[in-house]
Order: sequence, then C-alpha cells, then structure tokens
Amino acid sequence: MARIEITTEACKSCSYCVISCPKKCIEIGEKVNSKGYLYATSVRPEDCIGCAMCAQICPESAIEVWR
Ligand code: SF4
Ligand code: SF4
Repeated sequence: MARIEITTEACKSCSYCVISCPKKCIEIGEKVNSKGYLYATSVRPEDCIGCAMCAQICPESAIEVWR
C-alpha cells in the first residue's frame, strides 16, 4: 500500500495536489502552519495508489510518496 507524507510547514495551500489526485485522497485541512497557510492533509490514505501526481505537481516539493 502506498502512502504520502506532507511537509506541512512547506505547504502554501495552493490546492494543486488536491486537484491532481485521481483518488481524491488529499484535502486542504482546517489547521494552519506557522506561516498562516491552511495546509494539505492526507484523507482516506487507504485509497492512495502511489501515482505521485501530487508530489510532481506540488510547487513547494512538500509531498513525498512511499510505495
Ligand atoms: S500518490 Fe497519487 S493517489 Fe496518492 S495521494 Fe498522491 S496523487 Fe493521490
Ligand atoms: S500542492 Fe503542495 S503547496 Fe500546494 S496545497 Fe498541495 S502540498 Fe500544499
């Protein structure tokens, strides 16, 4: 099973990862990081297929994919 790790401090809340995920397993959460951005968070991680679309599109290189 694949999983992702998001460096929440690097997230700028652009939502590109949310839009890119074919399995809809990333959402912008309700918590802010120290820079004041609502950061992306992994949801339904069991649905992640490890395609790495999210990691490729993230302009902040904030996502790592493990598979
Ligand atoms: S690796 Fe693919 S399926 Fe998993 S969260 Fe990223 S975009 Fe979604
Ligand atoms: S693409 Fe990167 S910076 Fe943008 S919301 Fe997702 S994790 Fe945050």
